[in-house]
Amino acid sequence: MNIYEKLGIRTIINGNATLTRLGGSIMPPEVVAAMVAASKHFVDIVALQRRVGEELARLTHNEAAYVSCGAAAALTLSTAACITGLDAAKREKCPNLADSMKSEVIVHRYGRVGYDFAVRQVGVTFVEIGDENGTSPDELEAAITDKTAAFFYFANPSREHLWVPYEAGIAIAKRHGVPVIVDAAAQLPPRENLWRFTQMGADVVMFSGGKGLCGPQSSGLIVGTQQMIDAIAFNGPPHPFIGRGMKVGKEEIVGLLAAVKWYLKHAETFQQTYEEQVVYFAQEFANVCGVEVHRSFPSEAGQPMPRTEICFDENRLGITRDEILRQLAAGEPSIDIAGAGTNGVLINGQTLMPGEVAIIARRLKDILKT
Ligand SMILES: *Cc1c(COP(=O)(O)O)cnc(C)c1O
Repeated sequence: MNIYEKLGIRTIINGNATLTRLGGSIMPPEVVAAMVAASKHFVDIVALQRRVGEELARLTHNEAAYVSCGAAAALTLSTAACITGLDAAKREKCPNLADSMKSEVIVHRYGRVGYDFAVRQVGVTFVEIGDENGTSPDELEAAITDKTAAFFYFANPSREHLWVPYEAGIAIAKRHGVPVIVDAAAQLPPRENLWRFTQMGADVVMFSGGKGLCGPQSSGLIVGTQQMIDAIAFNGPPHPFIGRGMKVGKEEIVGLLAAVKWYLKHAETFQQTYEEQVVYFAQEFANVCGVEVHRSFPSEAGQPMPRTEICFDENRLGITRDEILRQLAAGEPSIDIAGAGTNGVLINGQTLMPGEVAIIARRLKDILKT
């Protein structure tokens, strides 16, 4: 019995995405080993953060880096950092910002994700720019006031055409002394994103440790300027202020470092695996009437990553897409994949373990009785 079976909890084949509700990603053995090794000793956490930050910065070609307990925590900490800098009196005030403190964050109206709260919990309000036709640099310029704490991009290549381009936005913000933050939590692959935004001049960029990096679930990677990383650490644990509830353990700090090393070593090879998975499903269903397999590209977050889209002719097969998804989830083993459009599903290779494509294909055929 595995540890979940003993608890009466079913394990799930995740062909959906690096979703927090399913446990994010699976750590490779190197990462687990690093966490176990880290668990055996006491250390000075602040010194460990600083040392691991140096290593992470070197590996990702950045000036400085920090380990948070996730990308959402990184949003909160970096927003706080923009407001407080290294001012202890301001740090004490968050999230009840005094009139003298910066309290606005600029964001594209069509560049929002579900993580607003992580920014707003510092006490700031959003100022939106742009519309469904795009955003002019003038709108950004006009939105900046002496209250502006930061300008946020929630990175998503499929939305970028509606935004002030990164280089132009960064140049305008810099001219006004406003830090630029890029939430790239789910933007690995491509691995170049680890340095691309900072090389364009962004002050802070964050990534989930538990998504593409396959690091500890409750970890996040923050890269950026030394000045911003220092202000982030100033607001972070163990200091008893806004970041105190966002504790990151020695195991996560060391585990994330191992994950970044692992990712940089292997990232190039994943793409090939994803392509092979698409070909596998196409071959498995090539002769099945009412089933069509396509290569879907890019991913829902605009990442350059192929997924397998399978469309069902519901009349011909006598079963609806939703019923197929229900049976996949309810069956043995339980399989979680995403719906696509009205009659399709999407299978994401990023979270599949070796051999699981065959299990999914077999279960689908059972359900379709083909
Ligand atoms: C997943 C995600 C987050 C949150 O990341 P965690 O590491 O789960 O805290 C934030 N922003 C975006 C765009 C994300 O996709």
